[in-house]
Amino acid sequence: MPKMVSTLSFAAILMILVQTNCTEWASGHIGNFHYQAGADYLQLSGYGKGQSHEVLPSLKRYLQHFGYLDTVADIGFSHVFDKDLEAAVKKYQAFFSLNATGILDTATVHQLIQPRCGVPDIIKDPAPAKFHRINVTGNSSSSLYGLTNSCWPPSSRRLLYNISLNEHMPFPIADLRPVFREAFKTWASFSPFEFTASTARIAQLHIGFYRGQHLNCPDPFDGVGNLLAHAFYPPSGVLHINADCVWAIDPEILRNTEESYDVQSVAVHEIGHLLGLGHSTVPEAIMYPTLDSQTRKVELHGDDIAGINAMYPRSS
Ligand SMILES: [Zn+2]
Ligand SMILES: [Zn+2]
Repeated sequence: MPKMVSTLSFAAILMILVQTNCTEWASGHIGNFHYQAGADYLQLSGYGKGQSHEVLPSLKRYLQHFGYLDTVADIGFSHVFDKDLEAAVKKYQAFFSLNATGILDTATVHQLIQPRCGVPDIIKDPAPAKFHRINVTGNSSSSLYGLTNSCWPPSSRRLLYNISLNEHMPFPIADLRPVFREAFKTWASFSPFEFTASTARIAQLHIGFYRGQHLNCPDPFDGVGNLLAHAFYPPSGVLHINADCVWAIDPEILRNTEESYDVQSVAVHEIGHLLGLGHSTVPEAIMYPTLDSQTRKVELHGDDIAGINAMYPRSS
């Protein structure tokens, strides 16, 4: 694997299949990122194959972005609930352990409007998924963690990270540093990696808070879905957090602030992507795509540990 691949060109390649031109979600403002589109999806409750609705093109772009709908729509998506959309909805329902009926029931619509990570659930080329089935202790059902074929080479076990200073940061850098230090420590405890804060010039991992369309990122925060953050697989090293969400770093403030999200919890999740992990279907896993508001989730679950061990055996 080439060690030096341009961050954004890699990200652009990765996102070709999920790039969208969605504008329906782009009406949020600081402190409230439950955009109008969330309410729009509520209108789809009960919809199924054969019906039409003006919000369906937005839903198709959403499902395409997250890897569930393969259709390529050069001239835009239609308002019709077709068989491809039904198949995509079934796939989506299966991922989130909902009844895979293909009908947009209340539970499915509720799941669709949850704030989530912007990384696709179904991993496409050039990072095809290698899914490993494992058993969860005390649970008769199997669980899945997702792995990509993008990993850091054995020569890259000491990774340097940098937090970009900009006007969108919700907290002073001195307050954010310990939060990210802890988040990296969580993964370092269960992997062969060592993470050290560094300058932007020499860091492999670049963290920052951004709003809407940012830098040359192929995945804008005002594009598809209510996005908390996103990160790209190795060797990208890019981790961006949506500055338009309400963030907390103090557990008590988190508990007492409506619709607030914990920076450390999101950081631990996104670092998993930086190391090459995809999304897990296990709700308790760090690598599950959604995070509840006012919730702290910073400890790796057995599924996350199995995933990172499969990707980087401790001897490597
Ligand atoms: Zn994610
Ligand atoms: Zn970004």
